[in-house]
Amino acid sequence: MIQAPKGTKDILPKDVYLWHHIEDAARRTAEAYAFKEIRTPVFEHTELFVRGVGDTTDIVNKEMYTFLDKGGRSITLRPEGTAGVARAFIENGLVSEALPAKMYYFISAFRYERPQAGRLREFHQFGCELYGAAAPEADAEVISLADSFLRSLGLKEVELRLNSIGCKMCRAAYHAALKEYFRPHLSEMCADCNARFEKNPMRMLDCKEEGCRAVTAGAPKILDYLCDDCRKHFEEVKRLLDDTGIKYTVDAGIVRGLDYYSRTVFEFVTKAAGAQGTVLGGGRYDTLLEQMGAKPLPAVGFAVGMERLLMVIAAEHAPVPEERGVTCYLAGMDETCRKKAFALATELRRAGISAETDLMERSVKAQFKYADKKGARFVAVIGESELEAGEAQVKDMQDSSSERVKFGELCTYFKKKTEV
Ligand code: ATP
Ligand code: MG
Repeated sequence: MIQAPKGTKDILPKDVYLWHHIEDAARRTAEAYAFKEIRTPVFEHTELFVRGVGDTTDIVNKEMYTFLDKGGRSITLRPEGTAGVARAFIENGLVSEALPAKMYYFISAFRYERPQAGRLREFHQFGCELYGAAAPEADAEVISLADSFLRSLGLKEVELRLNSIGCKMCRAAYHAALKEYFRPHLSEMCADCNARFEKNPMRMLDCKEEGCRAVTAGAPKILDYLCDDCRKHFEEVKRLLDDTGIKYTVDAGIVRGLDYYSRTVFEFVTKAAGAQGTVLGGGRYDTLLEQMGAKPLPAVGFAVGMERLLMVIAAEHAPVPEERGVTCYLAGMDETCRKKAFALATELRRAGISAETDLMERSVKAQFKYADKKGARFVAVIGESELEAGEAQVKDMQDSSSERVKFGELCTYFKKKTEV
């Protein structure tokens, strides 16, 4: 038997209601903030993700699924959602429509990582992007959306960590300070960090190796190097969050895993789900659209990992709606009755009531057993006498009570019974 590739996971019918639960909450929250869904291709030209020289992220350098297609083009399975959305936004001329533009997406993303709990090679994200607004209000709105989404799922132990990584200007001085600090420690740090030291020392702060973390703990803090504009922006974002009652901790260690961020960066983290504590990450990326060849346009967004979110929901025992079984199973005593059951099931289905009937030529007893396994809320039995009377014997599987209902009234009956 061929097995699924390492790092992928099947989402089975019995679990899919949990996904629907998160997706519904995500949609509801995004639409409340007036974001609209966008869908982009699973694969893109590799150049979209490898933007010129100097990308120092693990995602681009090590983790991408890149291959040549039959036409000899280099194609990459998207490792994240932001670049594809930005491309679609530019390519479709949305930049000339009303700004700010607000979009959300559900994607699967692909990264060649070492699979472990909460770290897969194909994983899923819900993300939001806001284009065109440079004001701190935009950062606050996106953070507030993320916060509302997580709270709407009933999560209590997920905390917001906030930082500013400044702009190009403030980072020049900061990089120099970092290099001075890290230089005497390089021998204690991993090979990756030694490479990062030359190309982008700030990335060393994102290293997950324990030895490196011990060193980075004492590193200079970017917040001490912010230019006046960046400092003002950060103060304003914090004030807006304070005003709306969103709690956060300023965490100088947050630099994010992608190179395009500037100014505000944030993560929602938790201890509830084991080692992979970051559930949601985002920030401002004012230079990405320009890097992609469009006119400069400020942007801010986030993405949340769905698998990690599910782990947190389970760990926190957050409330999830009960899985809904079929409303009515129609059981027929003999062949004629089964035919009637089939016709009635079709009527119910056309009226939008979920109904099932026998497809296996089973005995009534076996039909009941199946209905019970499938969690049917009601079982309507049709035997010879019921057929004659034009009625079904409807059993409520929750309290075992039972009553006769006319065939023609079954739709109204179930509609009434399942009203919430
Ligand atoms: P990490 O530091 O955990 O590797 P990241 O910085 O690479 O995360 P982002 O690129 O910002 O993560 O993606 C946003 C979110 O997507 C993460 O917070 C996480 O919830 C989820 N995510 C990222 N990579 C994976 C993966 N390999 N498997 C499952 N979820 C992931
Ligand atoms: Mg990563």
